[in-house]
Amino acid sequence: MGSVIDGKAVAAKVRGEVREAASVFAARHGRPPGLAAVLVGDDPASARYVASKEKAGAEVGIAGKVVRLPADIGEDALARVVDSLNADPIIDGFIVQLPLPPGIDASRILDRIDPAKDVDGLHPNNLGLLVAGRPGLVPCTPLGCLRLLDEHGVDARGKHAVVLGRSNIVGKPVALLLLERHATVTICHSRTADLAAEVGRADIVVAAIGKAEMVKGAWLKPGAVVIDVGINRNAAGKLVGDVEYAPALERAAAITPVPGGVGPMTVAYLMHNTVQAARARLSPGAARTGTT
Ligand code: NDP
Repeated sequence: MGSVIDGKAVAAKVRGEVREAASVFAARHGRPPGLAAVLVGDDPASARYVASKEKAGAEVGIAGKVVRLPADIGEDALARVVDSLNADPIIDGFIVQLPLPPGIDASRILDRIDPAKDVDGLHPNNLGLLVAGRPGLVPCTPLGCLRLLDEHGVDARGKHAVVLGRSNIVGKPVALLLLERHATVTICHSRTADLAAEVGRADIVVAAIGKAEMVKGAWLKPGAVVIDVGINRNAAGKLVGDVEYAPALERAAAITPVPGGVGPMTVAYLMHNTVQAARARLSPGAARTGTT
């Protein structure tokens, strides 16, 4: 029987660190770090995510602002909103909540964000810095996954890590972070020939595919560590991850639950990135990234 990696507890620790850093920033600069979220349309899941980010910001001493825009705003008008946030001196970081409504090219919008304010880490400059192993703003969920491994005492060096999913927001960056930690990394996706066999070779599994309980507990190598990023509803409407939890818990050394695993870490690391961005903007030479 494996142990449960408690994302809520680790996220509370990260928020404590961020609160401390935000208060040092506020004392030095006469204002708190500022974070904005742009919410386009009325997708209920996106509205929920933005509300949880707003609440988390308030709790750690980050000044938050939500820019709510109609679904039919159009790409040019949305680009102008991005320009105005880029120019706003008290906004240190902002996110454009994805997905965007049909008809808006998300890449064009993300490319327009000032990389220094790109706290989701999705601007090509920041993704490029990550590939090069240089400091930049790194996507929040992958940072959260690495911190969970650290807090659980899992050293990735020399381990075989298998990442399921290759999105820019989770799969690719988490694979690059594991590579930086000297893991041997395999990235799987929808065209991978034998997913079960790949998972069976993994010491560390990071599942980010968005398919309810698709990864079977029986696929795991006994003693593997499992980070389940997926957030899905199963047929009964229950919130579940990408990994079949109970059988996986039996076989793994450790696993994150859903909910209460990676989810709280993502929000905590958005706050962390906001303070990093604020310090980098106002204190030249400050570190802009890191998993702690
Ligand atoms: P995307 O849909 O962008 O990417 C999914 C990836 O999974 C793709 O690379 C896709 O492959 C791969 N995939 C899909 N089906 C299969 C399959 N049957 N076998 C193998 N690979 C498959 O999703 P995201 O990366 O944005 O998110 C992944 C999951 O993580 C979702 O459940 C999402 O809700 C959750 N999530 C959770 C967060 C949290 O804070 N806990 C934060 C962000 C996401 P291909 O590239 O070939 O299409």
